[in-house]
Amino acid sequence: MKKIPIAQPVIIGNELKYVRDCVRSTWISHGKYIDEFEKGFAKFCETKYATTVVNGTAALHLLLAAMEIGKGDEVIMPSLTFVATANAASYLGAKPVFVDVEYDTWNIDPTKIEKKITTKTKAIIAVHLYGHPADIDPINALGEKYGIPVLEDACEAHGALYKRKKVGSLSKAAIFSFYGNKIITTGEGGIITSNNKKLIERAIYLKSHAMNKKRKYYHKEIGYNYRMTNLQAAIGLAQLENISKLIATKRKNARTYNMHLERIDGILLPSEKEWAESVFWMYSIILKKLRLKDKLARYLSEKGIETRPFFEPMHKLPMYKTKESLRNTEFLSTNGISLPSGVLLTSDQIYYISQEIKKFAKKYI
Ligand SMILES: *Cc1c(COP(=O)(O)O)cnc(C)c1O
Repeated sequence: MKKIPIAQPVIIGNELKYVRDCVRSTWISHGKYIDEFEKGFAKFCETKYATTVVNGTAALHLLLAAMEIGKGDEVIMPSLTFVATANAASYLGAKPVFVDVEYDTWNIDPTKIEKKITTKTKAIIAVHLYGHPADIDPINALGEKYGIPVLEDACEAHGALYKRKKVGSLSKAAIFSFYGNKIITTGEGGIITSNNKKLIERAIYLKSHAMNKKRKYYHKEIGYNYRMTNLQAAIGLAQLENISKLIATKRKNARTYNMHLERIDGILLPSEKEWAESVFWMYSIILKKLRLKDKLARYLSEKGIETRPFFEPMHKLPMYKTKESLRNTEFLSTNGISLPSGVLLTSDQIYYISQEIKKFAKKYI
């Protein structure tokens, strides 16, 4: 039986037309779509600049490198995130420092950051988990107080709003991913957005081998090859033309799920703060009764419904293990599960999934 998938790319616009144009014109590596996609995405995020890269992880690596973060430095981030956030800091010899998340937004808890700041702290990364923006104002205030730049990992939140402002524009710089399961996709891909011209220029320089502008093939430092192809940008531009529609559908699907699931005891639904507009990248629920998640996953799988566990806490992974206990992170990671969240989900499917969750809850909660 084909399962209702957790997510899938939606390709309904000019993707093929633009890709065909690349292939016919032979402009498949470099070309005009890169520029158009970058300009379009910057405009969408309400930032002055954007530069594309090969994936979201590379975007983070490149951004931290462009900020001269390196050996011995510390980078503060939530423990509840995808491993790439921590890995990007590690690639440069920096140490990820983990902070607990909020019980309701699942994002880094601004009140728990300050005690993790040391003289080695060189950046604070807020992750907008599962599409809900992190509470960035108090984090920016801390950043200002200590002179530490704040960054956003917005890989899961293209188009989300914080106090009516777009994520990606809320801090010194932000990164996004365009992997196949993200809000929009280029297959693999990523981007850095910022209003800081110098920082973006340095990222552009480093992503292309740190090539000297005037003297070709002269390099005075070690750069990377992290450039996105014109083929990917062509898909990205076509995706961007439909992004508002995709987000509106995600939000509508979340409302439908909420309506069906809201009266089930023992289940926490995703919150949406009054200052936020979530894009509900993943529609996720928390089972308050401990350790039922795997059972629910198996139950739904038998009913043809794919699910996804929450991320493992970073501070519990072998390479980042610490002794501390981060209560909310551990609770949410143990008991959180994401339901099918693709844009192509029908309201009948959402009804079916919700009914199955109700049956499960009656039996086990
Ligand atoms: C997807 C994701 C990334 C990495 O993006 P890739 O394009 O897969 O490299 C980083 N951080 C978070 C929070 C993500 O969800």
